[in-house]
Amino acid sequence: MFREGLLVVVSGPSGTGKGTVLNYLREREKSIKFSVSATTRQPRSGEVDGVNYFFKTNEEFENMIKNGELVEWVRYCDNYYGTPKKCIEDTIKSGYDCLLEIEVEGALNIKKIYPDSVSIFILPPSFEELRRRIESRGTEKPEVIEKRMEKALKEMKLIDKYDYVIINDEVEKAVNSICYILASEKLKSSRNKNILESIGLC
Ligand code: 5GP
Repeated sequence: MFREGLLVVVSGPSGTGKGTVLNYLREREKSIKFSVSATTRQPRSGEVDGVNYFFKTNEEFENMIKNGELVEWVRYCDNYYGTPKKCIEDTIKSGYDCLLEIEVEGALNIKKIYPDSVSIFILPPSFEELRRRIESRGTEKPEVIEKRMEKALKEMKLIDKYDYVIINDEVEKAVNSICYILASEKLKSSRNKNILESIGLC
Protein backbone atom coordinates (compact mmCIF):
# COMPACT_ATOMS: atom_id res chain seq x y z
CA MET A 1 0.00 0.00 0.00
CA PHE A 2 1.49 3.37 -0.99
CA ARG A 3 2.44 5.74 1.78
CA GLU A 4 4.17 9.12 1.57
CA GLY A 5 7.70 9.24 2.98
CA LEU A 6 8.56 10.81 6.32
CA LEU A 7 10.14 14.22 6.66
CA VAL A 8 12.93 13.75 9.20
CA VAL A 9 14.91 16.60 10.75
CA VAL A 10 18.19 15.91 12.53
CA SER A 11 20.10 18.52 14.55
CA GLY A 12 22.95 18.46 17.03
CA PRO A 13 25.76 20.80 17.95
CA SER A 14 29.05 20.53 16.12
CA GLY A 15 31.20 17.90 17.87
CA THR A 16 28.38 15.43 18.54
CA GLY A 17 29.55 13.15 15.74
CA LYS A 18 26.29 13.81 13.90
CA GLY A 19 28.03 13.75 10.50
CA THR A 20 29.50 10.29 11.12
CA VAL A 21 26.16 8.91 12.28
CA LEU A 22 24.39 10.29 9.20
CA ASN A 23 27.05 8.95 6.83
CA TYR A 24 26.51 5.44 8.24
CA LEU A 25 22.76 5.88 7.96
CA ARG A 26 23.08 7.02 4.33
CA GLU A 27 25.02 3.85 3.49
CA ARG A 28 22.58 1.57 5.28
CA GLU A 29 19.13 2.96 4.50
CA LYS A 30 18.67 3.49 0.81
CA SER A 31 15.03 4.53 1.28
CA ILE A 32 16.20 7.79 2.88
CA LYS A 33 17.09 10.68 0.59
CA PHE A 34 19.21 13.42 2.10
CA SER A 35 18.08 16.94 1.25
CA VAL A 36 20.77 19.18 -0.23
CA SER A 37 20.64 22.71 1.20
CA ALA A 38 21.60 25.95 -0.48
CA THR A 39 24.27 28.08 1.18
CA THR A 40 26.40 31.15 0.57
CA ARG A 41 29.36 29.81 2.53
CA GLN A 42 32.48 28.84 0.60
CA PRO A 43 32.90 25.13 -0.28
CA ARG A 44 35.34 23.31 2.00
CA SER A 45 38.00 21.12 0.48
CA GLY A 46 36.37 18.05 -1.09
CA GLU A 47 32.84 19.48 -1.09
CA VAL A 48 30.97 19.23 -4.38
CA ASP A 49 28.27 21.60 -5.65
CA GLY A 50 24.91 19.82 -5.80
CA VAL A 51 26.13 17.00 -3.53
CA ASN A 52 27.11 18.62 -0.22
CA TYR A 53 25.34 21.92 -0.85
CA PHE A 54 24.14 24.09 -3.70
CA PHE A 55 26.74 26.85 -3.39
CA LYS A 56 25.19 30.24 -4.16
CA THR A 57 26.19 33.89 -4.23
CA ASN A 58 24.31 36.26 -1.89
CA GLU A 59 22.34 37.57 -4.86
CA GLU A 60 21.36 34.09 -6.05
CA PHE A 61 20.32 33.09 -2.53
CA GLU A 62 18.26 36.26 -2.05
CA ASN A 63 16.51 35.56 -5.36
CA MET A 64 15.66 32.06 -4.12
CA ILE A 65 14.08 33.65 -1.03
CA LYS A 66 12.13 36.15 -3.18
CA ASN A 67 10.88 33.41 -5.52
CA GLY A 68 9.62 31.29 -2.61
CA GLU A 69 12.00 28.43 -3.47
CA LEU A 70 13.06 27.82 0.13
CA VAL A 71 10.88 26.23 2.77
CA GLU A 72 13.06 27.71 5.53
CA TRP A 73 16.28 29.69 5.68
CA VAL A 74 18.54 31.20 8.34
CA ARG A 75 21.61 33.37 8.73
CA TYR A 76 24.20 31.26 10.51
CA CYS A 77 27.77 32.41 11.19
CA ASP A 78 27.47 35.22 8.59
CA ASN A 79 26.17 32.99 5.81
CA TYR A 80 22.78 32.01 4.47
CA TYR A 81 21.58 28.40 4.67
CA GLY A 82 18.21 27.20 3.36
CA THR A 83 16.21 24.13 2.42
CA PRO A 84 14.86 23.93 -1.15
CA LYS A 85 11.12 23.30 -1.04
CA LYS A 86 10.50 21.39 -4.28
CA CYS A 87 13.08 18.75 -3.57
CA ILE A 88 11.69 17.75 -0.16
CA GLU A 89 8.08 17.74 -1.35
CA ASP A 90 8.91 15.63 -4.44
CA THR A 91 10.87 13.15 -2.33
CA ILE A 92 8.11 12.63 0.21
CA LYS A 93 5.43 12.30 -2.46
CA SER A 94 7.48 9.64 -4.23
CA GLY A 95 7.41 7.53 -1.03
CA TYR A 96 11.02 8.07 0.05
CA ASP A 97 11.87 9.47 3.46
CA CYS A 98 13.58 12.86 3.28
CA LEU A 99 16.21 13.78 5.87
CA LEU A 100 17.26 17.35 6.61
CA GLU A 101 20.38 17.98 8.64
CA ILE A 102 19.81 21.53 9.82
CA GLU A 103 20.42 23.74 12.85
CA VAL A 104 17.90 24.38 15.62
CA GLU A 105 16.16 27.54 14.35
CA GLY A 106 15.48 25.92 10.96
CA ALA A 107 14.34 22.71 12.65
CA LEU A 108 11.76 24.59 14.72
CA ASN A 109 10.49 26.35 11.58
CA ILE A 110 10.11 23.03 9.74
CA LYS A 111 8.08 21.63 12.65
CA LYS A 112 5.68 24.59 12.39
CA ILE A 113 5.24 24.13 8.63
CA TYR A 114 5.14 20.30 8.69
CA PRO A 115 3.72 19.26 12.07
CA ASP A 116 3.90 15.61 10.94
CA SER A 117 7.66 15.76 10.51
CA VAL A 118 9.87 13.80 12.90
CA SER A 119 12.61 15.70 14.72
CA ILE A 120 15.65 14.11 16.30
CA PHE A 121 18.37 15.77 18.37
CA ILE A 122 21.77 14.09 18.62
CA LEU A 123 23.71 14.64 21.84
CA PRO A 124 27.31 13.86 22.79
CA PRO A 125 27.71 11.46 25.77
CA SER A 126 28.78 14.39 27.99
CA PHE A 127 29.87 18.00 27.87
CA GLU A 128 33.46 16.91 28.60
CA GLU A 129 33.35 14.51 25.65
CA LEU A 130 31.99 17.29 23.42
CA ARG A 131 34.93 19.51 24.35
CA ARG A 132 37.34 16.62 23.81
CA ARG A 133 35.91 15.97 20.31
CA ILE A 134 36.07 19.62 19.28
CA GLU A 135 39.62 19.98 20.65
CA SER A 136 40.82 16.73 19.07
CA ARG A 137 40.03 18.02 15.58
CA GLY A 138 42.94 20.38 16.15
CA THR A 139 41.51 22.86 13.66
CA GLU A 140 40.05 25.45 16.02
CA LYS A 141 41.70 28.17 18.08
CA PRO A 142 40.92 28.22 21.84
CA GLU A 143 38.51 31.18 21.51
CA VAL A 144 36.64 29.39 18.68
CA ILE A 145 36.40 26.25 20.82
CA GLU A 146 34.83 28.32 23.61
CA LYS A 147 32.36 29.87 21.12
CA ARG A 148 31.37 26.44 19.82
CA MET A 149 30.92 25.14 23.38
CA GLU A 150 28.68 28.12 24.21
CA LYS A 151 26.66 27.62 21.03
CA ALA A 152 26.31 23.91 21.79
CA LEU A 153 24.95 24.67 25.27
CA LYS A 154 22.46 27.18 23.80
CA GLU A 155 21.27 24.65 21.22
CA MET A 156 20.95 21.87 23.77
CA LYS A 157 18.59 24.02 25.84
CA LEU A 158 16.04 23.65 23.03
CA ILE A 159 16.14 19.89 23.15
CA ASP A 160 12.61 19.61 24.57
CA LYS A 161 11.24 21.02 21.30
CA TYR A 162 12.39 17.84 19.51
CA ASP A 163 10.43 14.59 19.32
CA TYR A 164 13.42 12.33 20.06
CA VAL A 165 16.87 12.51 21.61
CA ILE A 166 19.75 10.18 20.84
CA ILE A 167 23.00 10.05 22.78
CA ASN A 168 25.85 9.32 20.41
CA ASP A 169 28.11 7.22 22.62
CA GLU A 170 28.45 4.54 19.93
CA VAL A 171 27.85 5.24 16.25
CA GLU A 172 26.17 1.93 15.41
CA LYS A 173 23.81 2.25 18.37
CA ALA A 174 22.89 5.79 17.33
CA VAL A 175 22.19 4.68 13.74
CA ASN A 176 20.04 1.80 15.02
CA SER A 177 18.10 4.24 17.20
CA ILE A 178 17.29 6.42 14.18
CA CYS A 179 16.08 3.33 12.28
CA TYR A 180 13.88 2.25 15.24
CA ILE A 181 12.37 5.74 15.46
CA LEU A 182 11.52 5.80 11.75
CA ALA A 183 10.07 2.28 11.85
CA SER A 184 7.87 3.15 14.85
CA GLU A 185 6.72 6.41 13.27
CA LYS A 186 5.58 4.48 10.19
CA LEU A 187 3.45 2.21 12.37
CA LYS A 188 1.56 5.07 14.04
CA SER A 189 -2.18 4.71 13.56
CA SER A 190 -2.38 8.37 12.50
CA ARG A 191 -0.09 7.58 9.56
CA ASN A 192 -2.08 4.51 8.53
CA LYS A 193 -5.59 5.79 8.01
CA ASN A 194 -5.62 4.30 4.51
CA ILE A 195 -5.35 0.80 6.04
CA LEU A 196 -8.58 1.42 7.95
CA GLU A 197 -10.18 2.70 4.76
CA SER A 198 -9.02 -0.34 2.80
CA ILE A 199 -10.71 -2.72 5.25
CA GLY A 200 -13.85 -0.60 5.31
CA LEU A 201 -13.46 0.84 8.82
CA CYS A 202 -13.62 4.50 7.86
P1 5GP B 1 28.24 23.84 7.92
O1 5GP B 1 28.67 25.19 7.47
O2 5GP B 1 29.11 23.31 9.03
O3 5GP B 1 28.08 22.87 6.78
O4 5GP B 1 26.78 23.99 8.55
C1 5GP B 1 26.55 24.89 9.59
C2 5GP B 1 25.19 24.60 10.22
O5 5GP B 1 24.15 24.89 9.27
C3 5GP B 1 24.99 23.13 10.62
O6 5GP B 1 24.41 23.12 11.93
C4 5GP B 1 24.02 22.60 9.60
O7 5GP B 1 23.21 21.55 10.14
C5 5GP B 1 23.19 23.86 9.32
N1 5GP B 1 22.48 23.81 8.04
C6 5GP B 1 22.86 23.24 6.87
N2 5GP B 1 21.94 23.40 5.94
C7 5GP B 1 20.92 24.10 6.50
C8 5GP B 1 19.65 24.56 6.03
O8 5GP B 1 19.23 24.38 4.88
N3 5GP B 1 18.87 25.23 6.93
C9 5GP B 1 19.27 25.45 8.21
N4 5GP B 1 18.41 26.09 9.02
N5 5GP B 1 20.46 25.03 8.69
C10 5GP B 1 21.27 24.37 7.84
